[in-house]
Amino acid sequence: MTVSLWQRLEPRPMPAHADVAIIGAGITGLSAAMECEARGLRAIVVEQDFPGSKASGRNAGYLMRGAADNYAAAVRDLGRDRARFLWKWTEDNLRALRALGVGTLPGSADRPSCLAALGEPEAGELERSAELMRVDGFKVELIRPDAGAPDDPIWRSGRPVLGLVNPDDAVCSPIELVGLLRSKLSGTPVLTASRVFAIEHGPSGVTVRSRAHTVHAAHALVCTNAYARELLPEMAGLVTPNRGQMLALRPDNPAHADLAFAYYLNHGSEYLRAGPHGTVIIGGSRKHREAEERTDAEGLNPAVQDRLEHWARELITDRYAVTARWSGIMGFSPDGMPIVRACDGADGRVWFCGGLTGHGMSMGHLTARHAVAAMLDGTPSLFGLHPDGSRPGV
Ligand SMILES: Cc1cc2nc3c(=O)[nH]c(=O)nc-3n(C[C@H](O)[C@H](O)[C@H](O)COP(=O)(O)OP(=O)(O)OC[C@H]3O[C@@H](n4cnc5c(N)ncnc54)[C@H](O)[C@@H]3O)c2cc1C
Repeated sequence: MTVSLWQRLEPRPMPAHADVAIIGAGITGLSAAMECEARGLRAIVVEQDFPGSKASGRNAGYLMRGAADNYAAAVRDLGRDRARFLWKWTEDNLRALRALGVGTLPGSADRPSCLAALGEPEAGELERSAELMRVDGFKVELIRPDAGAPDDPIWRSGRPVLGLVNPDDAVCSPIELVGLLRSKLSGTPVLTASRVFAIEHGPSGVTVRSRAHTVHAAHALVCTNAYARELLPEMAGLVTPNRGQMLALRPDNPAHADLAFAYYLNHGSEYLRAGPHGTVIIGGSRKHREAEERTDAEGLNPAVQDRLEHWARELITDRYAVTARWSGIMGFSPDGMPIVRACDGADGRVWFCGGLTGHGMSMGHLTARHAVAAMLDGTPSLFGLHPDGSRPGV
Protein backbone atom coordinates (compact mmCIF):
# COMPACT_ATOMS: atom_id res chain seq x y z
CA MET A 1 0.00 0.00 0.00
CA THR A 2 1.19 3.54 -0.71
CA VAL A 3 -0.22 6.82 0.63
CA SER A 4 0.05 10.00 -1.42
CA LEU A 5 1.53 13.24 -0.13
CA TRP A 6 -1.97 14.85 -0.19
CA GLN A 7 -3.53 12.06 1.80
CA ARG A 8 -0.79 12.48 4.37
CA LEU A 9 -1.47 16.21 4.64
CA GLU A 10 -5.23 15.91 5.14
CA PRO A 11 -6.22 17.41 8.55
CA ARG A 12 -6.20 14.82 11.30
CA PRO A 13 -7.28 14.86 14.95
CA MET A 14 -4.71 16.05 17.48
CA PRO A 15 -2.04 13.45 18.16
CA ALA A 16 -2.81 11.04 20.99
CA HIS A 17 -0.25 10.01 23.60
CA ALA A 18 0.19 6.56 25.12
CA ASP A 19 2.72 4.38 26.88
CA VAL A 20 2.17 1.62 24.32
CA ALA A 21 0.68 1.83 20.83
CA ILE A 22 -0.67 -1.54 19.74
CA ILE A 23 -1.28 -2.13 16.05
CA GLY A 24 -3.98 -4.70 15.26
CA ALA A 25 -7.10 -5.64 17.22
CA GLY A 26 -7.12 -9.41 16.90
CA ILE A 27 -6.62 -11.79 19.79
CA THR A 28 -3.00 -10.77 20.25
CA GLY A 29 -3.53 -7.00 20.07
CA LEU A 30 -6.46 -7.02 22.50
CA SER A 31 -4.67 -9.39 24.90
CA ALA A 32 -1.61 -7.13 24.82
CA ALA A 33 -3.85 -4.17 25.69
CA MET A 34 -5.20 -6.13 28.67
CA GLU A 35 -1.66 -6.71 29.89
CA CYS A 36 -0.89 -2.98 29.58
CA GLU A 37 -3.99 -2.12 31.62
CA ALA A 38 -3.03 -4.71 34.25
CA ARG A 39 0.26 -2.81 34.59
CA GLY A 40 -1.48 0.54 34.96
CA LEU A 41 -0.23 1.73 31.57
CA ARG A 42 -2.09 3.70 28.94
CA ALA A 43 -2.37 1.77 25.69
CA ILE A 44 -4.04 2.73 22.41
CA VAL A 45 -5.02 0.03 19.90
CA VAL A 46 -5.02 1.07 16.24
CA GLU A 47 -6.93 -1.26 13.92
CA GLN A 48 -7.32 -0.95 10.16
CA ASP A 49 -10.80 -2.41 10.07
CA PHE A 50 -12.69 -3.70 13.16
CA PRO A 51 -11.71 -6.03 16.02
CA GLY A 52 -11.69 -9.63 14.80
CA SER A 53 -11.85 -8.60 11.15
CA LYS A 54 -8.98 -10.92 10.17
CA ALA A 55 -7.88 -14.36 11.42
CA SER A 56 -9.26 -13.88 14.92
CA GLY A 57 -12.80 -13.58 13.60
CA ARG A 58 -12.49 -16.13 10.80
CA ASN A 59 -11.04 -19.25 12.37
CA ALA A 60 -12.51 -22.61 13.37
CA GLY A 61 -12.77 -21.82 17.08
CA TYR A 62 -10.69 -24.73 18.36
CA LEU A 63 -9.26 -24.04 21.81
CA MET A 64 -6.94 -26.96 21.50
CA ARG A 65 -3.89 -28.19 23.31
CA GLY A 66 -0.81 -28.46 21.16
CA ALA A 67 0.28 -27.22 17.77
CA ALA A 68 -0.30 -28.07 14.14
CA ASP A 69 0.86 -31.68 14.17
CA ASN A 70 0.95 -34.38 16.84
CA TYR A 71 3.25 -34.46 19.87
CA ALA A 72 5.67 -37.01 18.41
CA ALA A 73 6.10 -34.81 15.33
CA ALA A 74 6.69 -31.75 17.53
CA VAL A 75 9.28 -33.65 19.59
CA ARG A 76 11.01 -34.67 16.34
CA ASP A 77 10.95 -31.14 14.88
CA LEU A 78 11.40 -28.93 17.96
CA GLY A 79 13.06 -31.22 20.50
CA ARG A 80 11.47 -32.70 23.61
CA ASP A 81 11.88 -29.69 25.91
CA ARG A 82 10.40 -27.18 23.50
CA ALA A 83 7.53 -29.47 22.53
CA ARG A 84 6.69 -30.03 26.20
CA PHE A 85 6.93 -26.30 26.84
CA LEU A 86 4.65 -25.47 23.90
CA TRP A 87 1.99 -28.01 24.89
CA LYS A 88 2.05 -26.68 28.46
CA TRP A 89 1.79 -23.13 27.10
CA THR A 90 -1.41 -24.00 25.22
CA GLU A 91 -2.86 -25.61 28.37
CA ASP A 92 -2.04 -22.47 30.35
CA ASN A 93 -3.53 -20.30 27.58
CA LEU A 94 -6.84 -22.17 27.78
CA ARG A 95 -6.80 -21.96 31.58
CA ALA A 96 -6.31 -18.18 31.30
CA LEU A 97 -9.18 -17.85 28.80
CA ARG A 98 -11.43 -19.93 31.05
CA ALA A 99 -10.57 -17.64 33.96
CA LEU A 100 -11.70 -14.70 31.80
CA GLY A 101 -15.03 -16.43 31.19
CA VAL A 102 -14.71 -17.95 27.73
CA GLY A 103 -16.82 -20.86 28.93
CA THR A 104 -19.78 -18.55 29.56
CA LEU A 105 -19.99 -17.40 25.93
CA PRO A 106 -23.03 -18.73 24.04
CA GLY A 107 -20.91 -20.37 21.33
CA SER A 108 -18.50 -22.07 23.76
CA ALA A 109 -18.47 -25.68 24.87
CA ASP A 110 -16.08 -27.99 26.63
CA ARG A 111 -15.33 -30.33 23.77
CA PRO A 112 -12.39 -32.77 23.70
CA SER A 113 -10.38 -32.60 20.51
CA CYS A 114 -9.48 -35.79 18.66
CA LEU A 115 -6.57 -36.28 16.29
CA ALA A 116 -7.97 -39.05 14.10
CA ALA A 117 -5.62 -41.15 11.97
CA LEU A 118 -7.04 -42.59 8.77
CA GLY A 119 -4.18 -45.09 8.46
CA GLU A 120 -0.44 -45.56 8.82
CA PRO A 121 2.01 -43.98 9.39
CA GLU A 122 -0.11 -41.41 11.28
CA ALA A 123 -1.67 -44.03 13.58
CA GLY A 124 1.79 -45.10 14.73
CA GLU A 125 2.74 -41.48 15.35
CA LEU A 126 -0.35 -40.97 17.49
CA GLU A 127 0.49 -44.07 19.56
CA ARG A 128 4.01 -42.73 20.03
CA SER A 129 2.58 -39.28 20.88
CA ALA A 130 0.36 -40.74 23.59
CA GLU A 131 3.35 -42.55 25.15
CA LEU A 132 5.46 -39.38 25.15
CA MET A 133 2.61 -37.23 26.44
CA ARG A 134 1.92 -39.56 29.36
CA VAL A 135 5.59 -39.52 30.35
CA ASP A 136 5.57 -35.72 30.10
CA GLY A 137 2.54 -35.46 32.37
CA PHE A 138 -0.24 -34.67 29.85
CA LYS A 139 -3.72 -36.19 30.01
CA VAL A 140 -4.42 -38.19 26.85
CA GLU A 141 -6.57 -41.10 25.69
CA LEU A 142 -6.31 -43.41 22.69
CA ILE A 143 -9.49 -44.73 21.12
CA ARG A 144 -10.10 -47.30 18.38
CA PRO A 145 -13.16 -48.29 16.35
CA ASP A 146 -13.71 -51.24 18.70
CA ALA A 147 -12.52 -49.58 21.92
CA GLY A 148 -13.75 -46.23 23.19
CA ALA A 149 -14.80 -44.65 19.89
CA PRO A 150 -18.08 -42.70 20.14
CA ASP A 151 -21.09 -43.53 17.97
CA ASP A 152 -20.92 -40.43 15.79
CA PRO A 153 -20.80 -39.89 12.00
CA ILE A 154 -17.00 -39.72 11.83
CA TRP A 155 -16.49 -43.15 13.42
CA ARG A 156 -19.54 -44.62 11.70
CA SER A 157 -17.87 -43.69 8.38
CA GLY A 158 -15.39 -46.48 9.11
CA ARG A 159 -12.44 -44.28 8.11
CA PRO A 160 -10.52 -43.55 11.35
CA VAL A 161 -8.35 -46.36 12.64
CA LEU A 162 -7.13 -44.59 15.77
CA GLY A 163 -7.90 -41.40 17.68
CA LEU A 164 -5.81 -39.43 20.15
CA VAL A 165 -8.12 -37.51 22.47
CA ASN A 166 -7.20 -34.35 24.38
CA PRO A 167 -9.92 -34.56 27.03
CA ASP A 168 -9.87 -31.01 28.40
CA ASP A 169 -10.14 -28.96 25.20
CA ALA A 170 -12.94 -26.60 24.19
CA VAL A 171 -14.47 -24.81 21.22
CA CYS A 172 -15.92 -21.33 20.93
CA SER A 173 -17.13 -18.70 18.54
CA PRO A 174 -13.93 -16.77 17.81
CA ILE A 175 -15.72 -13.47 17.29
CA GLU A 176 -17.33 -13.87 20.72
CA LEU A 177 -13.86 -14.43 22.17
CA VAL A 178 -12.66 -11.21 20.53
CA GLY A 179 -15.69 -9.46 22.06
CA LEU A 180 -14.88 -10.92 25.48
CA LEU A 181 -11.28 -9.69 25.33
CA ARG A 182 -12.42 -6.26 24.26
CA SER A 183 -14.99 -6.13 27.06
CA LYS A 184 -12.19 -6.67 29.58
CA LEU A 185 -10.58 -3.36 28.59
CA SER A 186 -11.67 -0.63 30.92
CA GLY A 187 -10.23 2.48 29.32
CA THR A 188 -8.02 1.57 26.38
CA PRO A 189 -9.21 3.25 23.17
CA VAL A 190 -9.57 0.91 20.19
CA LEU A 191 -9.34 3.13 17.11
CA THR A 192 -11.04 1.35 14.20
CA ALA A 193 -10.94 2.01 10.45
CA SER A 194 -7.39 3.32 10.99
CA ARG A 195 -4.87 1.59 8.79
CA VAL A 196 -1.37 2.26 10.07
CA PHE A 197 0.98 3.16 7.26
CA ALA A 198 4.11 4.17 9.18
CA ILE A 199 5.86 3.52 12.46
CA GLU A 200 8.60 6.07 13.07
CA HIS A 201 11.00 5.76 15.98
CA GLY A 202 13.58 7.99 17.57
CA PRO A 203 15.27 8.53 20.92
CA SER A 204 12.16 10.05 22.47
CA GLY A 205 9.70 7.37 21.38
CA VAL A 206 7.59 6.03 18.57
CA THR A 207 5.06 7.70 16.29
CA VAL A 208 2.37 5.51 14.74
CA ARG A 209 0.60 7.07 11.78
CA SER A 210 -2.69 6.24 10.14
CA ARG A 211 -4.68 8.63 7.98
CA ALA A 212 -7.13 9.21 10.79
CA HIS A 213 -4.83 9.22 13.81
CA THR A 214 -1.32 9.89 15.00
CA VAL A 215 -0.23 8.19 18.21
CA HIS A 216 2.95 9.12 20.07
CA ALA A 217 4.06 6.37 22.46
CA ALA A 218 7.08 5.11 24.31
CA HIS A 219 6.72 1.68 22.68
CA ALA A 220 4.82 0.08 19.80
CA LEU A 221 3.76 -3.55 19.64
CA VAL A 222 2.88 -4.74 16.15
CA CYS A 223 0.17 -7.43 16.26
CA THR A 224 -0.74 -7.50 12.58
CA ASN A 225 -0.13 -11.22 12.13
CA ALA A 226 0.04 -12.24 8.46
CA TYR A 227 0.38 -8.60 7.38
CA ALA A 228 3.56 -8.06 9.43
CA ARG A 229 5.75 -7.36 6.41
CA GLU A 230 3.67 -4.34 5.34
CA LEU A 231 4.85 -2.34 8.36
CA LEU A 232 8.01 -4.29 9.19
CA PRO A 233 9.78 -5.31 5.97
CA GLU A 234 12.30 -7.34 8.00
CA MET A 235 9.46 -9.75 8.87
CA ALA A 236 8.93 -10.68 5.21
CA GLY A 237 10.89 -13.91 5.45
CA LEU A 238 9.82 -14.70 8.99
CA VAL A 239 6.01 -14.55 8.84
CA THR A 240 4.46 -16.12 5.75
CA PRO A 241 0.80 -15.44 4.89
CA ASN A 242 -1.19 -18.62 4.25
CA ARG A 243 -4.87 -18.72 3.43
CA GLY A 244 -7.26 -21.12 5.12
CA GLN A 245 -10.60 -22.10 3.54
CA MET A 246 -13.66 -22.91 5.61
CA LEU A 247 -17.27 -23.86 5.14
CA ALA A 248 -20.31 -24.57 7.27
CA LEU A 249 -22.94 -27.08 6.20
CA ARG A 250 -26.25 -28.26 7.62
CA PRO A 251 -26.91 -32.00 7.19
CA ASP A 252 -30.46 -32.92 6.18
CA ASN A 253 -30.48 -35.31 9.13
CA PRO A 254 -29.68 -33.26 12.28
CA ALA A 255 -28.08 -36.34 13.89
CA HIS A 256 -25.26 -36.06 11.36
CA ALA A 257 -24.17 -32.77 12.93
CA ASP A 258 -23.74 -34.40 16.30
CA LEU A 259 -19.96 -34.85 16.48
CA ALA A 260 -18.57 -36.04 19.81
CA PHE A 261 -15.21 -34.35 19.37
CA ALA A 262 -13.57 -31.45 17.57
CA TYR A 263 -11.72 -33.52 14.94
CA TYR A 264 -8.30 -33.00 13.46
CA LEU A 265 -7.37 -35.25 10.51
CA ASN A 266 -4.38 -35.91 8.28
CA HIS A 267 -1.83 -34.27 10.57
CA GLY A 268 -4.17 -31.33 11.14
CA SER A 269 -4.72 -30.70 7.43
CA GLU A 270 -8.50 -31.03 7.82
CA TYR A 271 -10.65 -30.11 10.80
CA LEU A 272 -14.33 -30.81 11.42
CA ARG A 273 -16.51 -29.94 14.39
CA ALA A 274 -20.11 -29.30 15.31
CA GLY A 275 -21.01 -25.64 14.77
CA PRO A 276 -23.95 -23.46 15.78
CA HIS A 277 -27.58 -24.18 14.75
CA GLY A 278 -27.12 -27.80 13.66
CA THR A 279 -24.17 -27.13 11.39
CA VAL A 280 -20.81 -28.80 10.88
CA ILE A 281 -17.79 -26.56 10.33
CA ILE A 282 -15.08 -27.94 8.04
CA GLY A 283 -11.76 -26.28 7.27
CA GLY A 284 -8.32 -26.92 5.86
CA SER A 285 -7.20 -28.91 2.80
CA ARG A 286 -4.75 -26.07 2.16
CA LYS A 287 -2.14 -28.55 0.97
CA HIS A 288 -4.51 -29.56 -1.85
CA ARG A 289 -3.54 -26.25 -3.53
CA GLU A 290 -0.61 -25.16 -1.39
CA ALA A 291 1.00 -22.68 -3.81
CA GLU A 292 -2.32 -20.92 -4.56
CA GLU A 293 -3.10 -20.67 -0.87
CA ARG A 294 0.25 -19.05 0.02
CA THR A 295 -1.28 -15.58 -0.23
CA ASP A 296 -2.55 -12.72 1.89
CA ALA A 297 -5.51 -12.13 -0.43
CA GLU A 298 -8.80 -13.20 1.06
CA GLY A 299 -11.08 -15.14 -1.27
CA LEU A 300 -12.56 -18.53 -1.95
CA ASN A 301 -10.56 -21.20 -3.75
CA PRO A 302 -13.13 -23.40 -5.52
CA ALA A 303 -10.74 -26.37 -5.72
CA VAL A 304 -10.10 -26.32 -1.98
CA GLN A 305 -13.76 -25.71 -1.19
CA ASP A 306 -14.60 -28.78 -3.33
CA ARG A 307 -12.02 -30.75 -1.43
CA LEU A 308 -13.67 -29.77 1.88
CA GLU A 309 -16.98 -31.02 0.54
CA HIS A 310 -15.27 -34.26 -0.45
CA TRP A 311 -14.38 -34.73 3.24
CA ALA A 312 -17.95 -33.89 4.24
CA ARG A 313 -19.27 -36.63 1.97
CA GLU A 314 -16.56 -39.05 3.03
CA LEU A 315 -16.94 -38.56 6.78
CA ILE A 316 -20.37 -37.06 7.51
CA THR A 317 -23.07 -37.38 4.84
CA ASP A 318 -23.74 -36.56 1.19
CA ARG A 319 -27.08 -34.93 2.01
CA TYR A 320 -26.49 -31.38 3.25
CA ALA A 321 -26.79 -27.70 2.39
CA VAL A 322 -23.75 -25.42 2.57
CA THR A 323 -24.70 -22.43 4.74
CA ALA A 324 -21.47 -20.38 4.62
CA ARG A 325 -18.09 -20.31 2.91
CA TRP A 326 -15.21 -18.07 3.92
CA SER A 327 -11.45 -17.76 4.15
CA GLY A 328 -8.92 -16.23 6.51
CA ILE A 329 -5.23 -15.48 6.43
CA MET A 330 -2.84 -17.09 8.91
CA GLY A 331 0.70 -15.94 9.67
CA PHE A 332 3.08 -18.90 9.67
CA SER A 333 6.39 -18.78 11.50
CA PRO A 334 9.33 -20.88 10.25
CA ASP A 335 8.85 -23.60 12.89
CA GLY A 336 5.26 -23.20 14.09
CA MET A 337 6.31 -21.53 17.35
CA PRO A 338 5.06 -17.99 18.05
CA ILE A 339 7.35 -15.01 17.38
CA VAL A 340 7.98 -12.29 19.99
CA ARG A 341 10.92 -10.11 19.04
CA ALA A 342 12.28 -6.60 19.06
CA CYS A 343 12.48 -5.09 15.61
CA ASP A 344 15.84 -4.31 14.10
CA GLY A 345 17.29 -0.86 14.73
CA ALA A 346 14.42 0.41 16.91
CA ASP A 347 16.33 0.34 20.19
CA GLY A 348 13.81 -2.00 21.80
CA ARG A 349 10.92 0.44 21.22
CA VAL A 350 9.13 -1.50 18.46
CA TRP A 351 8.28 -5.18 18.91
CA PHE A 352 6.40 -7.80 16.94
CA CYS A 353 4.12 -10.48 18.38
CA GLY A 354 2.50 -13.05 16.09
CA GLY A 355 3.27 -15.84 13.65
CA LEU A 356 0.92 -18.09 15.59
CA THR A 357 0.68 -20.51 12.66
CA GLY A 358 -2.91 -21.67 12.76
CA HIS A 359 -3.02 -21.89 16.56
CA GLY A 360 -3.54 -18.35 17.79
CA MET A 361 -6.67 -19.25 19.71
CA SER A 362 -4.61 -21.80 21.58
CA MET A 363 -1.54 -19.63 22.18
CA GLY A 364 -2.29 -16.00 21.36
CA HIS A 365 -3.60 -14.62 24.63
CA LEU A 366 -0.66 -15.69 26.80
CA THR A 367 1.86 -14.99 24.06
CA ALA A 368 0.69 -11.39 23.74
CA ARG A 369 0.80 -10.85 27.49
CA HIS A 370 4.31 -12.25 27.50
CA ALA A 371 5.25 -9.94 24.60
CA VAL A 372 4.32 -6.88 26.65
CA ALA A 373 6.39 -8.16 29.55
CA ALA A 374 9.41 -8.87 27.35
CA MET A 375 9.15 -5.45 25.68
CA LEU A 376 8.72 -3.43 28.85
CA ASP A 377 10.64 -5.40 31.47
CA GLY A 378 13.55 -6.42 29.27
CA THR A 379 12.99 -10.07 30.23
CA PRO A 380 14.20 -12.46 27.54
CA SER A 381 11.61 -13.34 24.93
CA LEU A 382 10.46 -16.94 25.19
CA PHE A 383 9.81 -16.85 21.46
CA GLY A 384 12.75 -14.89 20.08
CA LEU A 385 13.69 -15.32 16.45
CA HIS A 386 16.85 -14.28 14.63
CA PRO A 387 16.57 -12.51 11.26
CA ASP A 388 17.69 -15.75 9.55
CA GLY A 389 14.72 -17.60 11.05
CA SER A 390 16.70 -19.52 13.67
CA ARG A 391 15.80 -19.48 17.36
CA PRO A 392 18.16 -18.14 20.02
CA GLY A 393 19.83 -20.94 21.93
CA VAL A 394 18.96 -23.64 19.38
C1 LIG B 1 -9.26 -20.38 8.51
C2 LIG B 1 -8.52 -20.33 9.81
C3 LIG B 1 -8.79 -21.28 10.79
C4 LIG B 1 -8.11 -21.23 12.02
N1 LIG B 1 -8.49 -22.07 13.02
C5 LIG B 1 -7.93 -21.94 14.25
C6 LIG B 1 -8.40 -22.70 15.34
O1 LIG B 1 -9.39 -23.41 15.24
N2 LIG B 1 -7.74 -22.62 16.52
C7 LIG B 1 -6.66 -21.80 16.68
O2 LIG B 1 -6.05 -21.81 17.75
N3 LIG B 1 -6.26 -20.98 15.68
C8 LIG B 1 -6.87 -21.03 14.47
N4 LIG B 1 -6.47 -20.21 13.47
C9 LIG B 1 -5.40 -19.25 13.72
C10 LIG B 1 -5.87 -18.04 14.52
O3 LIG B 1 -7.05 -17.55 13.96
C11 LIG B 1 -4.77 -16.97 14.46
O4 LIG B 1 -3.53 -17.53 14.87
C12 LIG B 1 -5.08 -15.80 15.39
O5 LIG B 1 -6.38 -15.35 15.20
C13 LIG B 1 -4.08 -14.69 15.13
O6 LIG B 1 -4.47 -13.59 15.91
P1 LIG B 1 -3.74 -12.21 15.69
O7 LIG B 1 -4.39 -11.25 16.61
O8 LIG B 1 -2.26 -12.39 15.79
O9 LIG B 1 -4.02 -11.86 14.17
P2 LIG B 1 -5.34 -11.30 13.41
O10 LIG B 1 -6.57 -11.79 14.00
O11 LIG B 1 -5.11 -11.56 11.97
O12 LIG B 1 -5.29 -9.76 13.72
C14 LIG B 1 -4.40 -8.87 13.08
C15 LIG B 1 -5.10 -7.55 13.04
O13 LIG B 1 -4.21 -6.56 12.56
C16 LIG B 1 -4.95 -5.69 11.73
N5 LIG B 1 -4.02 -5.01 10.85
C17 LIG B 1 -3.24 -5.56 9.88
N6 LIG B 1 -2.50 -4.61 9.28
C18 LIG B 1 -2.81 -3.43 9.88
C19 LIG B 1 -2.38 -2.09 9.70
N7 LIG B 1 -1.47 -1.74 8.76
N8 LIG B 1 -2.91 -1.13 10.50
C20 LIG B 1 -3.83 -1.44 11.46
N9 LIG B 1 -4.28 -2.71 11.65
C21 LIG B 1 -3.77 -3.69 10.88
C22 LIG B 1 -5.93 -6.60 11.02
O14 LIG B 1 -7.03 -5.90 10.48
C23 LIG B 1 -6.31 -7.56 12.11
O15 LIG B 1 -7.46 -7.15 12.83
C24 LIG B 1 -7.12 -20.23 12.23
C25 LIG B 1 -6.87 -19.28 11.25
C26 LIG B 1 -7.57 -19.30 10.07
C27 LIG B 1 -7.32 -18.24 9.04
